Amino acid sequence: MPYNKKKMYVYIQNVIDKVNKAMYEKVAELDAVAWVTKEPIPFHERCNGEKKEVHIGETWGQLWDCGWFNFTGEVPKTQKGQKIVLLIDVNGEGCVFDKEGCPIRGLTNISSSFDFSLGKPGKKVVQFLENAEGGEKIDIWIETGCNDLFGRYSKEGTLEEACVAVCNQEMRALYYDFQVLYELMSQLPDSESRHMSILYKLDEATKVLKDYTEEEAVKARKILMNELNKKGGDPSLTVSAIGHAHIDLAWLWPIRETIRKGARTFSTVLEMMERYPDYIFGASQPQLYAWMKERYPSLYKKIEQRIKEERWEVQGAMWVEPDTNISGGEALIRQVVYGKRFFREEFGKDMKILWLPDVFGYTGSLPQILKKSGVDYFMTIKLSWSEINQFPHHTFNWQGIDGTKILCHMPPEGTYNSSASPQAVKKTEAQYLDKGVSDNCLMLFGIGDGGGGPGAEHLERLERVKNLNGLSPVVQESSLDFFKRIDKDSHKYKTWNGELYLEKHQGTFTSQAKNKKYNRKMEIMLRELELSSMLAQINAQMVYPQEEIEEIWKEVLLYQFHDILPGSSIKRVYDESLDRYQVLMNKTQEMIQKSLEAVADNIDTCGIDNPHMVFNSLSWERKEWIKVKDDWQYLSVPPMGYSVVDEKEIDDISEKLVVKEDCLENKLIKLQFNDDGTIKSIYDKEYQREVIQDGVEANVLAVYDDQGDAWDFDINYDERPFDSFQLRSRENYIDGPKAIMKQVYNFGESKLIQKVILTKDSRRIDFKTEVQWQESNKMLRTSFPVDVYATDATCDIQFGTIKRPLNRNTSWESAKYEICAHKWVDISQRDYGVALMNDCKYGYKVLENTIDLNLLRSTNYPGVNADKGKHEFTYSLYPHNGDYVTGEVAKRADELNIPLNCIKVNSSKDQLPKTKSFIEILDGDVVIESVKKAEDDNDIIVRLYENNSSSVNAQIFFNFDVKSVQLVDMMEENASDIPIEKGIVNLKFKPFEIHTLKVSI
Ligand SMILES: [Zn+2]
Repeated sequence: MPYNKKKMYVYIQNVIDKVNKAMYEKVAELDAVAWVTKEPIPFHERCNGEKKEVHIGETWGQLWDCGWFNFTGEVPKTQKGQKIVLLIDVNGEGCVFDKEGCPIRGLTNISSSFDFSLGKPGKKVVQFLENAEGGEKIDIWIETGCNDLFGRYSKEGTLEEACVAVCNQEMRALYYDFQVLYELMSQLPDSESRHMSILYKLDEATKVLKDYTEEEAVKARKILMNELNKKGGDPSLTVSAIGHAHIDLAWLWPIRETIRKGARTFSTVLEMMERYPDYIFGASQPQLYAWMKERYPSLYKKIEQRIKEERWEVQGAMWVEPDTNISGGEALIRQVVYGKRFFREEFGKDMKILWLPDVFGYTGSLPQILKKSGVDYFMTIKLSWSEINQFPHHTFNWQGIDGTKILCHMPPEGTYNSSASPQAVKKTEAQYLDKGVSDNCLMLFGIGDGGGGPGAEHLERLERVKNLNGLSPVVQESSLDFFKRIDKDSHKYKTWNGELYLEKHQGTFTSQAKNKKYNRKMEIMLRELELSSMLAQINAQMVYPQEEIEEIWKEVLLYQFHDILPGSSIKRVYDESLDRYQVLMNKTQEMIQKSLEAVADNIDTCGIDNPHMVFNSLSWERKEWIKVKDDWQYLSVPPMGYSVVDEKEIDDISEKLVVKEDCLENKLIKLQFNDDGTIKSIYDKEYQREVIQDGVEANVLAVYDDQGDAWDFDINYDERPFDSFQLRSRENYIDGPKAIMKQVYNFGESKLIQKVILTKDSRRIDFKTEVQWQESNKMLRTSFPVDVYATDATCDIQFGTIKRPLNRNTSWESAKYEICAHKWVDISQRDYGVALMNDCKYGYKVLENTIDLNLLRSTNYPGVNADKGKHEFTYSLYPHNGDYVTGEVAKRADELNIPLNCIKVNSSKDQLPKTKSFIEILDGDVVIESVKKAEDDNDIIVRLYENNSSSVNAQIFFNFDVKSVQLVDMMEENASDIPIEKGIVNLKFKPFEIHTLKVSI
């Protein structure tokens, strides 16, 4: 008689479902009383909310409501000798607290949405008694959130389940035996005897199950044990599994919920560690630990203990898992400095791995930052999300823009939410692109994004797949142990050069424009604050406000989290962060003012009636027009220093400026407008050439259809017809040294006022723009088709530049249809070029000879009405001689972003001269990025970098008393002395090299 296999598969699956249902047996109901509030309240105030008796099926709250539930009941006397659990589902998230107010176990609604191919995220089982006497009283407290793991909720906060149940332990074990074997079988072709052998054993086991009793379960398990005990041979691949719970610090929920998510997730981990001795878990982000320390000190102590035991791995070298496209260079360093210092101070750990599983692309300056901060390894999964090309490696050396290499690994399964099932192990092996070269890879298992972490199911599976015939063996170990092992063969791995560009989520370079603007401004202001505070300490004996600055930095770093700065969070996240940014900005501005005033009051001002100090924080001399009180003056201000000037009126500043109805002109540039406001011609009078391509309009304020979300927009958006803002009126005038064409436009309900400004003696054309943006699903862009021929554009990124293709020959080039750049993008041929600069934008398109800038989007998911409202920004076109280096594009863009600061001098102590540079680059074109107080003493940290892709011998002059200078790493450690003579230090730079100096005074 032939075998009827098909029927067997179906029957076994049915039995597995029945076994699943037989694991827990309900024996009594629990009573529930809830105290509900709008915002979370601590344990000791838990009865302060609105009191409600809640029955099964009743609603207890609305989205984002918070509750304290008291569940009471009794273990039935009949259940003596049984293992008792509580099954609780409030259709929201929950956390069980002990009597002292310490979180002890997280819960997740069973209705939670998730990628079910990775498993189900629900967690409703609370361990209660291992061996009941019967009659025990139940009285437990659960803090709840009326939201799903992923923010939204489907069952509107109804109490779904609250009961006492018996755990049938053999049945529960049998369920996982069945599940693992069935899934392993499904992964193996039925041509393999292992497949058939499992099938028949599963079938045999089903035959002993009739009433689904514990006794039957024991018999069935015995049968399956034959298959579970079959070991693998010598492996060609070993999978290192580590528990993981990706917790977005804000995303589809506000920051306040993340703090509670941390407690839920971490308390679950601790509880599981008691039950599963092999379990190793890891978590990153010092910010999250800092919240735990502050809000849940007793939980934090328990975490600390597990870290000591090396069951819990602290991961990652940054304060949060930040965006690395938009975050500035110094900010990335501070992420590492504050992140590593926290883990060292709290747990004595020196972090070696940058842990950024979910970030939307990785800047080419990261390898150097990491190596110079003592971080040797990098882990992500995100490039598996690329939509056009498959990234060719999972284990590789990543070489940054300066040539530094760092060892990288991407778990081949392509997820940080692995189910740790046989299917996951098989997928890992099948997809591993470097197998054979490397025989190790990582697997990150658990429920994540909204936290949650591994459930018992993950750990039950892992116990069974450690070494199972038909699968690669799986070991539970820390990621550091894994990296150290693969490091031994790092010479064998291939190298990837340049940025790790994610071929997805390019809309995030532009979404939530205000957030991005605040971030840019705060990064610049923190730079000004640190420099001015240092100068006030040196020159005016003011105390450097280290703690306050650190606090501001850390909040700015928090908002660089990879769902906040990119714009991919819900509206509430931005409502809250924008308010906080304004507070931080006001405070920072006040502190800068105070420091600069203190310096100013030490200046000798004799002979000057109304002295003003004009301060230049940039490391080169600036010659610019600036308004001193009410009048324009053309000034030269030395690098990282100041000049004192008097109030005076300047005559004839409008000489050589021309304004006509359709034309602006200075000595260098003639700008002609079309009737619709676009630019017809930009003529470079000095080099006698046209800047704009003949016959093509520039600065068309194009409005494209954009049906995307915060992350993405259609790659073909520009192939469809677009609308544009319509010019309604224009006027021209001269304001001091500035020739201005003010143009007023509208589009639908939106209004745009743009001043096109040409300044005397300047070749920079500013487009100062104010928009009342009222659109939905539209994208506003401007473009400049320039009369320059090149095959790539140079883009400003953190601590250097990167080239992006201007053509679309290959799929890799086509994928870069939108790119991230910081203050400028330049297209140059050898003799001439044009840059488009900006003061707060990041999304560019470069194609053939056109630079196109994404100004605003207007998506509705996840943030509704994103970007509606008023925006102010400036972009500038800068035609120049030679390439971007000859044209000093980077300097001009910094000047656009960092204005000179004019401070009234109130008193005079005659200690400082009328003009002074505090730090000056005497030779070699390098840039001083930051000047700050050393973290651990009163020395000065000066960070410099080379920005022209050249080797440079630089001479740096410190114009104050310096005892000694040391070269240090970015952690301000590993010092080596550098000779200093008459305040001058010589320092060699390789292309894009960053140096950090520690200066003793
Ligand atoms: Zn994330």
